Amino acid sequence: MATMRVAQVSRPRGPLEIVERPIPVPGAGWVRVKVEACGICHSDSLTKEGLFPGLQYPRVPGHEVAGVIDVVGPGVPGWQSGQRVGVGWNGGYCGYCDPCRRGSFFACVRGQTTGVTYDGGYGEYLIAPASALALMPADLPPADAAPLMCAGLTTFNALRNSGARPGDVVAVLGLGGLGHLGVQYSAKMGFHTIGIARGKDKEPLARQLGAAVYIDSQAQDPAAELLKLGGAKVILATATSGEAMSAVQGGLSVNGTLLTVGAADSMQVSPLSLLMGCRSVKGWYSGTSIDSQDTLAFSQRIGVRSMNEIYPLERVSEAYDRMMSGKARFRVVLTIGS
Ligand SMILES: [Zn+2]
Ligand SMILES: [Zn+2]
Repeated sequence: MATMRVAQVSRPRGPLEIVERPIPVPGAGWVRVKVEACGICHSDSLTKEGLFPGLQYPRVPGHEVAGVIDVVGPGVPGWQSGQRVGVGWNGGYCGYCDPCRRGSFFACVRGQTTGVTYDGGYGEYLIAPASALALMPADLPPADAAPLMCAGLTTFNALRNSGARPGDVVAVLGLGGLGHLGVQYSAKMGFHTIGIARGKDKEPLARQLGAAVYIDSQAQDPAAELLKLGGAKVILATATSGEAMSAVQGGLSVNGTLLTVGAADSMQVSPLSLLMGCRSVKGWYSGTSIDSQDTLAFSQRIGVRSMNEIYPLERVSEAYDRMMSGKARFRVVLTIGS
C-alpha cells in the first residue's frame, strides 16, 4: 500500500511526530489533496495542546493548506483532479441544517474543522469534504497562498463585511500575523488606514504595508489619536490583548464598530459610549471556502502578500515552536515535497 509522511500529535501536549501512514482514499463527497504548503497558525495549538472539546488522537494539525486535487471521491460535482485548491479552518458544512439553510454556513451544526475534527495539512496528503475547497489562482505560489487561507481570510473577510466605505477611517490594532495582512487589505480596499501597535520601531513597516497614519500605543493614547482623525468607523482588533482592545474602544466614531478577530479572553467596554454613539463591539468568524476563494483571488490580483518564514515538513517541531514564540515575522509556513 502506498504511504505518505505526516506530522501527527498522539496525545494532548504530545510532540509533533513524523510518521508513515497509508494514503487515505476519499469517500463520497470528499476529495484528496496533495499538499504543497501548509501554514502554521496559533489555532493549531488547540490540536497540539488538546484544548478543543472532543478531540480524537492521533491528529494531524494544519488548516492553512495549499495543494492540488489528486483524487475526487464519488458524488463531487464541480471539482477535478489537477485543480489547485486551498483548505482552511472551515472544514466543510452540510448544506441542510437550519444555520446552513439560513446561509450561515460557518455555523453549520455538522460543520467540520480542518486539522481538528479531521486530519489537516501537516503532511503529504489530506482528504477534505468538497464544501471545504477554495479554488486557487494558477499563478499564486503555494507558500504565498497558505497563510491567506486563515490569517488572510480572517482579515479580508472581516473588513469587507465591516460596513466601512472607501475613505472611512479604519484602524488595525496589532501588526502581527493577522495585522500585517489587515493593514494591506484595508489600504487596498480604499479605507483611510491607521496602524496601531506598540513601539515606534513598527512605524516604517506599518507605512510600507499601506498605513497612512501610525499610532504608537505606548507613547500615545490611541483612542484620543483616533478621535483627532474624526474617530474610526471600524477598528479591526487583531491583537489578542483585551487590554489593548479596551484602550482603543473610545476612538470609535458615531456608528463605529470594534470588530474583533483576536481571541482575547475578555475586554472592558463602556456601555455608555456604545449607547451614546450607537457604537458596537462585534466578533467576526473567519469565513467559509468561498470567502477563502475570494481572498486568494483578491490578494493575487491586488498584490497583498503575507510575510512568511518557510520550513520544510521535516522541521515541523522547530517551525511550530517558532510560531508559538510570537517572534516569527510574520507567518510560519511548512513546504511539503519538492
Ligand atoms: Zn488559523
Ligand atoms: Zn449545516
